[in-house]
Parts: sequence; C-alpha cells; structure tokens
Amino acid sequence: MKALPVNIEIGSHIWVGDPELAWLDGVVFNIKGEDAEIQTSDGKTIVANLSRVYPKDAEAPEGGVDDMTKLLYLHEPAVLHNLSTRHEINEIYTYTGNILIAVNPFQGLPHLYDAHMMERYKGAQLGELSPHVFAIADVAYRAMVNEGKSNSILVSGESGAGKTETTKMLMRYLAHLGGHNASEGRTVEQQVLESNPVLEAFGNAKTVRNNNSSRFGKFVEIQFNEHGRISGAAIRTYLLERSRVCQISDPERNYHCFYLLCAAPQEEIEKYKLGNPRSFHYLNQSSCYELVGVNDAHDYLTTRKAMDIVGISKEEQEAIFRVVAAILHLGNIDFAKEEDIDSSVVKEESKFHLQMTAELLMCDPHSLEDALRQRVMVTPEEIIRKSLDPHDAAVNRDGLAKTIYSRLFDWLVYKINVSIGQDPNSKFLIGVLDIYGFESFKTNSFEQFCINFTNEKLQQHFNQHVFKMDQQEYIKEEIDWSYIEFVDNQDILDLIEKKTGGIIALLDEACMFPKSTHETFAQKLYQTFKDHKRFIKPKLTRADFTIVHYAGEVQYQSDQFLDKNKDYVVPEHQDLLSASKCSFVSGLFQPFSEETAKPSKFSSIGSRFKLQLQQLMDTLNSTEPHYIRCIKPNNTLEPAIFDSMNVMQQLRSGGVLEAIRIKCSGYPTHMTFSQFLHRFGMLAPEIWRGNYEERVACKWIFEKMELTGYQLGKTKVFLRTGQMAELDAHRARV
Ligand code: ATP
Ligand code: MG
Repeated sequence: MKALPVNIEIGSHIWVGDPELAWLDGVVFNIKGEDAEIQTSDGKTIVANLSRVYPKDAEAPEGGVDDMTKLLYLHEPAVLHNLSTRHEINEIYTYTGNILIAVNPFQGLPHLYDAHMMERYKGAQLGELSPHVFAIADVAYRAMVNEGKSNSILVSGESGAGKTETTKMLMRYLAHLGGHNASEGRTVEQQVLESNPVLEAFGNAKTVRNNNSSRFGKFVEIQFNEHGRISGAAIRTYLLERSRVCQISDPERNYHCFYLLCAAPQEEIEKYKLGNPRSFHYLNQSSCYELVGVNDAHDYLTTRKAMDIVGISKEEQEAIFRVVAAILHLGNIDFAKEEDIDSSVVKEESKFHLQMTAELLMCDPHSLEDALRQRVMVTPEEIIRKSLDPHDAAVNRDGLAKTIYSRLFDWLVYKINVSIGQDPNSKFLIGVLDIYGFESFKTNSFEQFCINFTNEKLQQHFNQHVFKMDQQEYIKEEIDWSYIEFVDNQDILDLIEKKTGGIIALLDEACMFPKSTHETFAQKLYQTFKDHKRFIKPKLTRADFTIVHYAGEVQYQSDQFLDKNKDYVVPEHQDLLSASKCSFVSGLFQPFSEETAKPSKFSSIGSRFKLQLQQLMDTLNSTEPHYIRCIKPNNTLEPAIFDSMNVMQQLRSGGVLEAIRIKCSGYPTHMTFSQFLHRFGMLAPEIWRGNYEERVACKWIFEKMELTGYQLGKTKVFLRTGQMAELDAHRARV
C-alpha cells in the first residue's frame, strides 16, 4: 500500500516501518528534506524517509473500530493496530465492509457461541451487533430466503487459523435457523452437524501448525426447501493427504482414527490384536502419541456415536475399524532380502502381522504376500512376475495402505451423502467452504502446487467479486473513475491450468510418456515458460521451478510430481481386495460413486483436481458469496500473543489489504437517485417544490450539505467512505 497523500509535519503522530514489529508508533520532532526524525513510543529516536512514514490517528477509539472502513486513516499499520487492539480485549471479529476477519483466540470463549448469542443475531442487520460469524450466516440465510438466491460462505486462512472451527459455528447457526423440532428424531441438520466429527476422525491429524489439522478440503452444500427449512445436504471433499497414512515425522501424528482405535474398549483391542500405538510402524515414526486436552478413548466413543447419527450401520462401523486395524498391521509387515537373489521375503517376526492383515481384510494370506512381494509385468510376448527387493516391497506395501485408506475416506463421504440425502426439490442452498490456505514451505511439492492453485482460483473469485463488480458498475454508470491498479491473476491461472501447454497439461503428458523423468519434465517447463513473467527457473537447481503467486513466490521441487500425479491402483492390489470375502472391503474397490468410477482413459490427480475445482467455481459463481478470513495471531498457538509481522503476511495473502484498498479508493456506497432522494430528500425539502430531474435534485442536496468527492452516475449516486454516515448524521439533526 502506498502512503496516502497526507502531510506529515513536526508534531505529527505517525507509524513507521520496523523490521521486527512491522510498525512502531511515534511522533515526528524534526523534518530534514525527505527524512523525518522520530521519537518512538518505546523511547528510541530514529530517522526515516518520509515514504516509510504513515499518519496515525491519535484520537482513534481506544478499543479499536469494529469495521476497518471506519478507520479515519486506512493503511496497513492502522489495520494491524486495530486488529491487535481488538485481539487484546478478546474482540476476535472485525469487519472490512462485508468481509469478516476472524482472529483465532486460541482459548475457549463459550459465551460467544451459546444459544443466547444465536438468538441475538437472528434477523439482526449486519453491523447492528458486534461482528460475528453468526451475523454472516444470518445475512446469507436472509438473503437466500428473501431473494430466493443461493449463497455461499468462503472461509479461508492458513493452517491453524480457525477455518474448521468457524465452519462448524456457521453450520450450527444455520441448523439453528433452518432446523426442525428436536422431537422429530434424527434430523437432517443433526446429521449434517455430526458428519463433522466423523470426517475429522478420518481426515484430521496433529501437525506442527495445528493439533487438529484438516488434511482435506471441504465444501458443504446445505439445501433448503421453500420454507427455509434444511431439506438435504451434500459434502464434497478435495485432495486428502495420502502420504500421512504411512509417513509422519516428529512431532506430528497420523490420522486421529488410528489412535482412537488403539484406545478403544478392551474387547475391540483384543479382536483386532492391537494395543500400544508405539508398536506400529505407521505410528511410531513420530514420538507424539497423545494430545494435550484430548482423550482418545472418549473420542473413539464419540466418533462411533456420530457414525450412528449420520447413518453408518453397526456392521459398517465394525468393518471400517477392522480396515483401520488392518492398515496398522499391514504397516508392520517387513521384508528381508532373499538369499543370493534380488527379491524379498516377509520377515519371520512380521508373519503374524501378515496373517492379521489378511484375516482383517478377509483375503488370502498367500495372495496378500504375493501382491506385496511381486509385481506382474505384462509385455506383448508374455506375463512376467517380477520379484521386488525389500525396499521396493516396502514401497509397494505403503502404496497399498494409502490406496485402502483413501478409498475408505471416499466411502465415508459417499455414505454420509447417501444417508443425509439430497433434496431434489431444494429451492436454494448455502454452501460453506473450508479449504486449505496458501502454503509456502522450505520444500514444496505437488500438494502445495495443488493447494496454491486452489488459492489462485479463489483469489480470482474474491478479486472479481470485490473489484470487478465495483468497476463494472462505475463503467456502466460512466462516472469518472481513476483506475486503481488491480492485480489480476489470470496469467498465473493460465500458466497452471491452460488446456494445452499449462503446467498440469505438461505434467499429464510427462506421466503418459514412459521415458519421462522429473528432470525432463522440468526441462520442458523451462523451455515452455522461459518468457512467462510468472515463471522463474531458479539458479543452481536442475528440477525446481518457481511460480510467482499472487501471495508471493513459491519454489517447487518437481522430483515427486510425476508419481504423485499418477492416479491408478496397482492391478495386483485391486485383484487382491476385490476378491475379499468381506463385502465391505471388496466394495471399496468397486466404483461406488461417480468420483471413484474413473473413465478408462488416462486420468491424473492434477486434472481431476482441476475439474473438481472448476465445478466448485461454477457452483460458487451461481451463488452470492460472503467471505470470512481467518487469521492465526501467532505460531505457538497461544492466547494473547499477536505477532504483527506474521499477521501482516496473512492479511496480504488473504487479499484483505487489497480488498480494503479497492473498497476505499472507490466508492463503497452506491444508491439509485430515487433511493437517495427517498432517504435524504428531507435535507432539502425545496426540491419537492420544483419539478427537478432526479439527478439535479441529488446534486442540490450534495451542494447544500457541502459534500465533495462524491460522483453522480447515470442512474446512481456514488459516495466515498464515510459520506453516508455524514449524511445520516445531518438527517438525524433535522
Ligand atoms: P487447518 O488448515 O490445519 O485445518 P484450520 O484453519 O481449520 O486449520 P482449526 O482447526 O479451525 O484451524 O483451528 C485450530 C485450533 O484453534 C482449534 O483446534 C481451536 O483450538 C482453536 N480455535 C480456532 N477457532 C477458535 C474459536 N473461534 N474459538 C476458540 N478456539 C478456536
Ligand atoms: Mg481445518
């Protein structure tokens, strides 16, 4: 953000950029040419170029303002200061126009979400009460009921920022508004709410960033009938992190369900031959087993209860946990080198686990062993059984574990959807999106690529909504609108998803061509995009590439891109499990939904994801969107710590700062001439006496009230920030 053209003088209260705290406040005591000499509030004297100095509103309200657009000086330091002031007094929500910013409190604030609060927000105008998630849900619900239009609420933010908690709050509030009488038994809204603990047990895990991190994206579509009652729901999920099933590092954990099952009642432990999680390879790669404040035994029972409610039968539940147990045993099957030849045998001490895996999956132990140790190669001449060495056999085993787990997850989503049921006559819906925010780590692989692609898509949607909507209106109304710079990210999207020659298309090509390696893939990227301004070939690397995302540069390591993009089940695994005597297990390997019924032609994770995203965007585009930006105030997940640098980066990558700039440099209030006259005509009753044109009458009012900076379009008036309030104040005095 550029400094506003405000005069800084001696005695001015100001903000000045600081490398650690982001911004320091102080008072200017001298100005020499372009430099200001500043006494900072922490007692230092510094000299700073005037371009780094921003005016500070010395009379800003003590507790901050509940809407950023009310800030007298609107710039980065003021925005940050406002958030931090409010965070200090546990005001975690702040509006920016109609965008809600939610700062994670990292402490329970139960009074904020109780039934009494829900009642208060019911039907209240936005802005009438303190900012709140309930207010956003209420606006969406009212808009839907009154205008008969579908709405969506997009929740975003980085890992641990509070997206999932916010989403649950939204869902609870919508269930409250559109729910049925509790006496009706198992209601749709109860099922929708109880789908959360089920999906969290199987799709969430402790990571360094969040003790309950969602490892998948989720879009919940709540359907309503013409009376505004919930009549159905559909859940779509995106890209579950598969690698976590067999690979974790300290101090993270695997998916919650594994630990829940290890803490199950004794008879289940015995039935599945489980026990201490420390004895399983898929869990003991990390030394973290327990979570502070979480009781796995209790959560196991809660999950089972939630499964009852969403309509998963007892038999199905038994089969689900049997498969979870099987995956733990599968991970303990180790291989040794067979004497003199390059192949492997199951280690003696692993035989028990082989037996258990086969028993739990109800398949033949010999077939299981073969499917792990061998790979069938089909050549035009013959079928060859190739033995795998111990390393490759272990990789093959992990592949099987990942396949089973991701099928199990897909099945759960499918089952929940079938059980809740879709309402074919639903008039409108409210969609709630809880999806991973922008990621940039030391090493970034295919997952980050897909996640950041998602964020580019959503950012475009956001920008278009906030900016293009305004702009189009200005153009239509032919008002004088000095174009502010708008960062459109279409060029990045083209780079990634263009049908021919985009990165995803080139990756698919590489995957289909047997001789490709990640290096040839990277070379191809370098060649194709050498002049693309969003693409950089980093120095000193042979297979990395950098994309200049809207939120910053990210360097990707391409070495696993090809493997991770390939979407196929090893035929030996497919054959083994389709032959299972357990119909649940074999069912996992039949197509049970459109998603899992793949077309026979080559399909890749990347292009399937691209298609899913496009469908999501189509849905979102047919709705009225509302945005909630979650902010993580610190990386230590503690209450009362506000790390300004960190927050600033999040405000940037979430597009919040951009939105503020767009809104404020434009005209946040638009009203038709007649709306305006209806509201403010009383300020100049004389206009009613003459037979004036509406436009002329509006102009008369502005001149009488001595307002400047407004614009008159062809049919509407456009007000600058704060002018509406000024006119209202005049009105109140009449
Ligand atoms: P991820 O992308 O990793 O899934 P997320 O954005 O979904 O992260 P959450 O799981 O919603 O993050 O929140 C992380 C933690 O922060 C929660 O487990 C909870 O402890 C705390 N938290 C978030 N929002 C709130 C809130 N409104 N009130 C109290 N605590 C909260
Ligand atoms: Mg989450």
